[in-house]
Amino acid sequence: EAKRQGGGRALFFAPDMESETRDLAALRLDLRRAIEQHGRGELSLHYQPKVRASDGHVTGVEALLRWHHPERGPISPLVFIELAERFGLIEALGDWVIDEACLQMAHWRTQGLALRVAVNLSMHQLRRPGLVAHVQQALRRHGLPPEQLMFEITESAAMTHIDTTLRVFAELARLGTELSIDDFGTGYSSLSYLRRLPASQLKIDRSFVKDLDSSADARAIVEAVVRLAHALGLAVVAEGVETEAQREQLRALQCDELQGFLYSRPVPPDTLSAWAIEGGGPALLRFDPPSARP
Ligand code: C2E
Ligand code: MG
Ligand code: MG
Ligand code: MG
Repeated sequence: EAKRQGGGRALFFAPDMESETRDLAALRLDLRRAIEQHGRGELSLHYQPKVRASDGHVTGVEALLRWHHPERGPISPLVFIELAERFGLIEALGDWVIDEACLQMAHWRTQGLALRVAVNLSMHQLRRPGLVAHVQQALRRHGLPPEQLMFEITESAAMTHIDTTLRVFAELARLGTELSIDDFGTGYSSLSYLRRLPASQLKIDRSFVKDLDSSADARAIVEAVVRLAHALGLAVVAEGVETEAQREQLRALQCDELQGFLYSRPVPPDTLSAWAIEGGGPALLRFDPPSARP
C-alpha cells in the first residue's frame, strides 16, 4: 500500500540496510537514465495555473516536475529531487527543467499564448556556479523575454545560505527574470534579508491556507504576511486553495493571486493550451484570449 500512496515512498520501507542500498543504487541508475535519455519521456513538466484573486484570470503557471518510473510508476518530486541532490544529478535535472520550460514557453508563444512560467529551484541549484549562464542561454536560444520566466525558491532554501541567495537573486534579477519566495511561513526569515531580496512575489505556504477555516491564528498569520509583503512591494500568492470558503477569506485578506485544486490541478501542457485556446477546462479558470502575434 505504501507504493500506491506515495509513489517512491515504498523504497524507504526496504526490510534491511543491504536491500535498501541495492534499491537506491538501482534508482540512481534509473534516474540518471531518465535524465540522460529524456527522449524516453519518463520525465515531464506539468503546469498549474496561478489566478488573479479578483477575477480568476490566469496570470501564469507553475512548472512541476514529474517522473514516471517504468516499473514503479509515478514518484513524487519531493522524493526524487532529494535523491537527485544526494546522487549528484540535480544539476543535470535542473538544467533539463529550465530547458523544457523555455521550450514550452516558446511553443505556447507560437500559439499566441504568452504565459508566464514559474520554475522551482532547490538550494543545490542555487549554489551551482553555472546556473545564471544556463538560464541566460536558454532564454536566448528560445528568444524569450526574461520577464516571462519566474523562479520559485522556498523561504527555507533562500535563508539557509543567505549570501549565495543574495548574489544569485541579484544576478537573476539583472537578467530580468522574476523571483518568488515559496512556502513562506515555514522557514525562518530574517526580515532584513527579506527586504534585500529582489523578489516580486511571495507565496504563503499551504499549511496556513488549509487551516484558514478552523484557526483564528492561521487567519492572523495570513493577514500579517499579506501586510508585510505589500509593505515590501511584493505580490502575495496563496498556494493550496481547495475550497470556496478559503478563496473568499483570501480575497477578503487582500491576497493578490490564488493557486490550488479549487482552480486546477497541475496538468500536461497540451491540456492547458487546449483550455486557453479552445475554451473549456475547470469552471473557475479564465484565460485572456490568445493574441495573434505574441
Ligand atoms: P511547491 O513548489 O510548493 O509546489 C506545490 C505542491 O503542492 C505541488 O506538489 C502541487 O501539486 C501541490 N498542490 C498544488 N495545489 C494544491 C492543493 O490545492 N492541494 C494540495 N493538497 N496540494 C496542492 P508536487 O507537484 O508534488 O511538488 C512538490 C514539491 O516538489 C514542490 O513544492 C517543489 O518544492 C518540488 N518540485 C516540483 N517540481 C520541481 C522542480 O522542477 N524543481 C525543483 N527544484 N523542485 C520541484
Ligand atoms: Mg513552487
Ligand atoms: Mg509552494
Ligand atoms: Mg509547498
